[in-house]
Amino acid sequence: MHLVNATLINLYHVCRRELWLHHHGIRMEHTSDTVYEGKLIGETAYGERARKNKQVELGGVKIDYYDPKTKTVHETKKSDKMEGAHVAQVKYYLYVLHRHGVEGARGLIEYPRLRERTQVAFDPEADVAEIESWLADIRRILDQEQCPPVLNKPVCKQCSYYDYCYIEEE
Ligand code: SF4
Repeated sequence: MHLVNATLINLYHVCRRELWLHHHGIRMEHTSDTVYEGKLIGETAYGERARKNKQVELGGVKIDYYDPKTKTVHETKKSDKMEGAHVAQVKYYLYVLHRHGVEGARGLIEYPRLRERTQVAFDPEADVAEIESWLADIRRILDQEQCPPVLNKPVCKQCSYYDYCYIEEE
């Protein structure tokens, strides 16, 4: 069975094709300035936060910034364009914590450039079933022999796989 990490959860909510390509070792992130910039913001925006929080690894899923005192998962993103995917990623961290006996954790997504924050709550009654349906669907997609079709959506223009999807497919 595939180990599903938070990156796969995020990609599942952005593009099923990207999810499949990433999992099958076809990586383009190194060619993308946007990805590099996003990583840099995540690593440098909150130096103080990095000192207060712990990196936690549970069942193979790594949570980079978790404050055990306040039971808060912190995640930093460059832009809120893919906020649905960011929320899904943080909900997955909260799900993993819940599965390991940590109840009442919450998430906080920070957008330093926009000076905005989004709170993420976790409701076991509703969220466990939903997240487990994502996991089943992700495993089904990863097991497919064929790569899912291109999205043809505006998000493609910002994607590091753009050339791969639209030039090589022509
Ligand atoms: S370019 Fe579009 S279809 Fe291709 S991986 Fe990126 S988001 Fe998906």
